[in-house]
Amino acid sequence: MTTIVSNLQLVRDRITTACIAAGRDPSSVRLLAVSKTFDAGAVAEAMSDGQRAFGENYIAEGVEKIQALQADRSSLEWHCIGPVQSNKTRLVAEHFDWVHSVDRLKIAQRLSEQRPAHLPPLQICLQVNVDGGANKSGLAPDETLELARQVAQLPRLTLRGLMAIPEPAPDFVAACALHARTKAIFDQINAAGVLPVPMDTLSLGMTADLEAAIHAGSTMVRVGTAIFGGR
Ligand SMILES: *Cc1c(COP(=O)(O)O)cnc(C)c1O
Repeated sequence: MTTIVSNLQLVRDRITTACIAAGRDPSSVRLLAVSKTFDAGAVAEAMSDGQRAFGENYIAEGVEKIQALQADRSSLEWHCIGPVQSNKTRLVAEHFDWVHSVDRLKIAQRLSEQRPAHLPPLQICLQVNVDGGANKSGLAPDETLELARQVAQLPRLTLRGLMAIPEPAPDFVAACALHARTKAIFDQINAAGVLPVPMDTLSLGMTADLEAAIHAGSTMVRVGTAIFGGR
């Protein structure tokens, strides 16, 4: 067994244990393997153990890997999880399946306009700056409902949920409380009745805090280091 495969199995065990501790069904949390800075060979190793969803931060690097693994394209799901500037929206719309990091209407409109007609709608999460970090991307919590309403109306996008990257917390309880803020925004928006279809995805939790995120209701954890190693 390779290191990546044994790491993947450990991460799956962490997810299962966290779900059981939180009284949740382990199948309610998906694992997104964050392959940024690792090459297509590392992705292929994870694929050999059944991993299908991969996350990339840097768009040019992600597109390079997507193209290197083109033969497997139909069985893979590629998620863009890093900042998207206006001049990169076309590449994202043409190559990725999901974007977790939308925080402006202009970017959403460009992604919708540039999504090729032969592909299914791009799956979108809005990134929320849940703890107000000054230099962080993401929407203010009180702007999230309005952007969700607008994105849900764009023809070539499907609004799936919210993503957040809170500052590291000192302990489990504090980490749970931060993730719970995003869960509360998610629940409020779904309850507001302004979306044609409720959101179903809470993209929360990374290597250091996936247990807290699952406790708070995450449905998709984005894990890099624990699978592929340090960067
Ligand atoms: C790098 C990254 C991750 C993975 O972080 P790890 O701590 O390596 O698990 C998850 N989400 C985003 C947005 C990232 O940039």
